[in-house]
Amino acid sequence: MKLKTVFVIILCSFLISCESKTNKRSFFAMNTHITIKSTCGKNKSANREIEQKFYNLEKLISTTAPVSEVYLINNNSGTVKLSDETFFLAKYALDGAVKTNGKFNPALYPVIRAWGFTTEDYKIPSDIEISQLLELTDFSKIKLDSETKTITMPEKMMLDFGAIGKGFAGDEAIRILKENNVPSAILDLGGNIQVLGKNLETGEPWKVGIRNPYEDGVAVSLKVTDCAVITSGGYERFFVGKDGKKYIHIFDGETGRPVENNVVSSTIVCEKGIYGDFLSTTLFVMGKEKAIEFWKENRDFEFIMMFDDLILCYTAGLKDKIDFLTDFNKIEIIQ
Ligand code: AMP
Ligand code: MG
Repeated sequence: MKLKTVFVIILCSFLISCESKTNKRSFFAMNTHITIKSTCGKNKSANREIEQKFYNLEKLISTTAPVSEVYLINNNSGTVKLSDETFFLAKYALDGAVKTNGKFNPALYPVIRAWGFTTEDYKIPSDIEISQLLELTDFSKIKLDSETKTITMPEKMMLDFGAIGKGFAGDEAIRILKENNVPSAILDLGGNIQVLGKNLETGEPWKVGIRNPYEDGVAVSLKVTDCAVITSGGYERFFVGKDGKKYIHIFDGETGRPVENNVVSSTIVCEKGIYGDFLSTTLFVMGKEKAIEFWKENRDFEFIMMFDDLILCYTAGLKDKIDFLTDFNKIEIIQ
């Protein structure tokens, strides 16, 4: 037998044995149905470890579970020592707030809570209540000490990592998969998709769908490897007020009200889940023009934004990766 033939046989049997080693694990954590599909390596035990990691993270950063670190700092002013994970998230979030001039603001929680987004007991607070609560959202007053890993919260101020927690958890999952020599995986965390390597079953890049915000189904498909595809959508969590208006879970820190612009979904494609999660929320708040400006200043991510009236724009780096599965009235490429 020729050497080349032997090589092909070995490669085929490797691929076949890998395929049969695909492990799928689904569970519910962080208010989300999560699915991990991973192939080869110590993937089964990695998937188990990821599930445990997600439960542990939830215990640290839940805003509602009285045992969590975030609950503790939100319900006690003063200085508190944090775990490495919570400290990392707090630093990431507060740095992000500075970088985006508060478009991303992890200290909006007192306002978000007043609208009922934590308990689903939705209501529209009075203008006076909103302006009083906005006084508590000045993130620059929250102090972190990197030496002691402590946070100092002024009285009545509160933090919420809802906009970055899942992305961070996804990065932890990818780290665990790599530590277990898993070469190929796809994680589905609601609107957050993170992929490792390519799809070993097809030998092709992963095909990731972005939900159609206008009706059921998928609007856009992306061919990707080793990256995070993170979407924030107004359809994810919202209520319709007595005034007949739709109020979504993404907030404008200047008004203390749910964002009201023409954005219906904002998707980020980048390496890290936490960065994608941070940006998907932030660009949604910014709206089209500011989002484009921010992209031009940074250029370390790509994005897709969908607007009312079936209009879509996307950044040029996605040109060879993107397919449209629904008809749009207008598609614009941002250069
Ligand atoms: P995402 O689904 O990733 O866009 O995150 C939305 C969640 O982030 C909300 O449920 C809030 O907990 C939080 N959030 C809403 N508005 C903001 C904002 N402007 N800055 C930071 N976090 C926010
Ligand atoms: Mg987000």
